[in-house]
Amino acid sequence: MFASLSTRIAAFGALVFVALLALIWMLVDASLQTRDSFRWVTHSAEVIETMDDALAALRDAESGQRGYLLTHNATFAESVDARIATSRQAMGRLVELTADNRAQNGRAKEIQALMQRRATMLHGALDMARRGEFDRARTAIASGGGRDIMTMVTLRIDSFLAEERVLRNARVDAADERLAHVRKLAIIGGPLIAIFIVAVSLLLIWGIRRPAGLIRQAMTALGHGDRDMRIAPASMGSREFADLADGYNGMASQLQTALADQGRSERELQVANTELLRNSGILRERGEVIELLGGMAHRMQAARTDDELAQVIRVFVPRVLPGIAGALYAHNNSRNLLVPIAGWGGLDPREDGFAPDQCWALRRGQAHFVAEPGGDIVCPHVDADAIYHCEPLLAGGEVIGTLYLEGVIDAENQFRLTVMAENISSALVNHRLQRGLREQTIRDPLTGLFNRRYMEEALAIEIARTRRNGIPLSVVMCDVDHFKRFNDEFGHDAGDVVLQAVAAEMRSKFRDGDIVCRYGGEEFTIIAPGTTAQALVNRVEILRQSITEIILRQGGRALGSTSMSFGIATWEDGMASDGSTLLQTADAALYRAKREGRNRTVVDLPQAA
Ligand code: GH3
Ligand code: MG
Ligand code: MG
Repeated sequence: MFASLSTRIAAFGALVFVALLALIWMLVDASLQTRDSFRWVTHSAEVIETMDDALAALRDAESGQRGYLLTHNATFAESVDARIATSRQAMGRLVELTADNRAQNGRAKEIQALMQRRATMLHGALDMARRGEFDRARTAIASGGGRDIMTMVTLRIDSFLAEERVLRNARVDAADERLAHVRKLAIIGGPLIAIFIVAVSLLLIWGIRRPAGLIRQAMTALGHGDRDMRIAPASMGSREFADLADGYNGMASQLQTALADQGRSERELQVANTELLRNSGILRERGEVIELLGGMAHRMQAARTDDELAQVIRVFVPRVLPGIAGALYAHNNSRNLLVPIAGWGGLDPREDGFAPDQCWALRRGQAHFVAEPGGDIVCPHVDADAIYHCEPLLAGGEVIGTLYLEGVIDAENQFRLTVMAENISSALVNHRLQRGLREQTIRDPLTGLFNRRYMEEALAIEIARTRRNGIPLSVVMCDVDHFKRFNDEFGHDAGDVVLQAVAAEMRSKFRDGDIVCRYGGEEFTIIAPGTTAQALVNRVEILRQSITEIILRQGGRALGSTSMSFGIATWEDGMASDGSTLLQTADAALYRAKREGRNRTVVDLPQAA
């Protein structure tokens, strides 16, 4: 009913006020009644006293009359007048006092009348005495019946007083009763109100302390980290504390939300920080990788031979792509085969290479990979169950090779691979260009053999090595027999065909270390380091024989066959270091071969020189 604590306190205050007011009113009322009771008691006393006064004054008047008659002293006569007047006055007063009580009033009036008669009698006798008729006065008194009247008066007065005393006693009792009532009120009402005040105060204190305790408990729990703690407003017992509980709950919820937000922000910050650290780590790693790739590119550009290029690749690729085995294949000159350049990570590239159409990366001009078995078409140059990645090497929109890598390339390695593939592509292109330029300066364009200038340089280098190491060095000079006839008979172009055919044959019959050159016209030189003339003669003979077996054709036209003459010479101390003496010696042997009938080999043996 009293949901609000303030209302409860106000109601309690009002109740106490009303109770106190009632108590005061009852006390005041009771005291007023008591005062009235006492007033009636006093009234009765006054009535009795007035009656006594009237009777006493009448008796005094009788005594005065007797005194006057005995002494003739006028003073007595005067006192009789005064006493009768007093008695008459007292009776008048008594009649007034008993006006509220008809019975007593009637009695009083009766007594008043009797006392009046007695007073008249006294006056009559007194008047006689004053006129000096004392004896007549005495006689009148003796026969007047004054005594009888007084007896009647006394009897009436006794009855009146008896009745008045009864009234007085009843009034005294009533006053006592009132006083007892007041006492009872004071004794019972006061403590009752006090008990009520104490009980309600205790209830109010409990109504404050209990919810205050619950709120304090919740706040303490919150302080110790229990953010889920809430107070049930219904259990608070009053609206004020329910509002306080609501306020606390709202605050706790906001705090919980704020802390959750803060926690989330911190986690997000942590994630962002981790991401930042990871990114900075990636950036640093990329910086290092870019530096590494730069170093690799620099070395690849500086490589002069395919072998050097392969060495750079074998050293650097495992550093750029750690743990990933692979191989580099590049187009050969005729662009019909991908030939191995280098392998790394324990992988041996296919020695025989593979055709360009065997690689999907080369066919499509973009990366091709199989990250899981059956994930994509497997290139024919790879094992059927391989997990691998082929990165095409492109230059100017043209495919120049492929990087074959085992395993899966993740995003970070893809970045490295892309940059590295570009570097390798440009290095390969550059290398090819340089090699092409160099080839142009040292090769004879018609036959593809080294030219005379290269031959002279190479010969000087080989002579220097021979002189240093003492290893043998031989030279072959050879010339196409009757070559002029081909030109004359079939034309200059047919002559060129013959030159190309014999050049190819010569190259195929000599090993890599031997240097086969076109000396000029239809004359050729072969520098054979590490070989003596005697050891060389067999190979030359095989060559000579095979040349005679070449069936020369130009277009659909048969050109017949040809032959060559050979002169062999070996380096000897004392010869010119530029090779001129050695060449002249070999040429002399060739000259002898021509002279002796052509299509033969003449060795310039030292003893023959
Ligand atoms: P021999 O058996 O004595 O060597 O007779 P030969 O005809 O081969 O000798 P010769 O030196 O008289 O002839 C060489 C000819 O080769 C002269 C020249 O016209 C021709 N010749 C030189 N260089 C070339 C060339 O590059 N192409 C063609 N088709 N002919 C060439
Ligand atoms: Mg010739
Ligand atoms: Mg010649």
